[in-house]
Amino acid sequence: MKGLYIHIPFCIRKCLYCDFVSVTDGSGIFADYTGAVIKEAEEYRGEKIDTVFIGGGTPTVLPPELIGRLLEGIHRIFNIAPDAEITSEANPGTLDDGKISALLGGGVNRISVGVQSFNDTELKAVGRIHDAKTAYNTVCRLSERGFSNISIDIMTALPGQDMNSIKNTLETAVSLPVAHISAYSLIIEEGTPLEKQYAEGKLTLPDDDADRDIYHFTVDFLREHGFDRYEISNFARRGFECRHNLKYWDCREYIGLGVAAHSYIGNRRFSNSRSVTGYMSCNEREETVLSRADEISEFMIMGLRKFCGVSEAEFKKRFGSGMENIFGKELRRFTELRLMEHKNGNYFLTDRGIDVSNSVMCDFILT
Ligand code: SF4
Repeated sequence: MKGLYIHIPFCIRKCLYCDFVSVTDGSGIFADYTGAVIKEAEEYRGEKIDTVFIGGGTPTVLPPELIGRLLEGIHRIFNIAPDAEITSEANPGTLDDGKISALLGGGVNRISVGVQSFNDTELKAVGRIHDAKTAYNTVCRLSERGFSNISIDIMTALPGQDMNSIKNTLETAVSLPVAHISAYSLIIEEGTPLEKQYAEGKLTLPDDDADRDIYHFTVDFLREHGFDRYEISNFARRGFECRHNLKYWDCREYIGLGVAAHSYIGNRRFSNSRSVTGYMSCNEREETVLSRADEISEFMIMGLRKFCGVSEAEFKKRFGSGMENIFGKELRRFTELRLMEHKNGNYFLTDRGIDVSNSVMCDFILT
């Protein structure tokens, strides 16, 4: 069965680090955009789906009736498995009881809250619309209303962040009824206001050593508190790994709906128009046909992100050749350097390997 991703490209205000496709003046087109997504869904009528992920942007800026209309359309058009994982992203400061009811009523059974930090100074420095208290109360309210599979995002390497503040953020996070935590480092993306501040010397970021310390502390802290690292930046209590994101890391098929969304079907990748008006008018898609070399490289790079790594048996099943036939030299070298391990038919990165994962992965790109 395939995964389904739906992009809702609206936000209340742009965070200073954000280069995602989202606009802040979209309330006048919420209904038309929802209609356009449902129309696009019709192209895939009857497809069997077992994971749905509604992301953005901020899906919870939509009013309850549109959240309901979107979810009703998805259930009507697709063949959604009874035990499907259905996730919606949500931002603190955009949820109310009406929206929570619409999400629950539409079958959403997993919610991913963009908390980022429980430190108000850090939240302000990156332009989040909410404070720590609102984030805390949002998670509590979602739990009270019946969500038992709650994920939160937190960020490391935030301006002004130090060991004390990350410790406080993590302690607060694990005290909440959450089953999954994503922890990503802040990246200064080109063309964002944060990049400008950085270039003008107005931003105090943790230096490389502090950044590494914060990152290692985060990994150890979450592990000690029952959150297993199952992917480079993702931690979950046993059984609460995100099934939808695992589809990406396993290179399994998915359909993407909405502006800038990607689909991966067979050996083809489609990407929708990156402009909201372009998407709503004619949505000229770009299509890439992946070569066997592209597919092999992607399988290795995505698979090595997972704690369990890449399976030799799965590799052979997909590509008709042993992993060691193609990457024998690389696998031997990284295993000798203790950047990778080989156990139970899987190759995976060690903790040291994860620290230098980008350069390790580069060696698995076939040209
Ligand atoms: S809420 Fe998310 S998508 Fe919206 S501006 Fe902030 S980071 Fe970007």
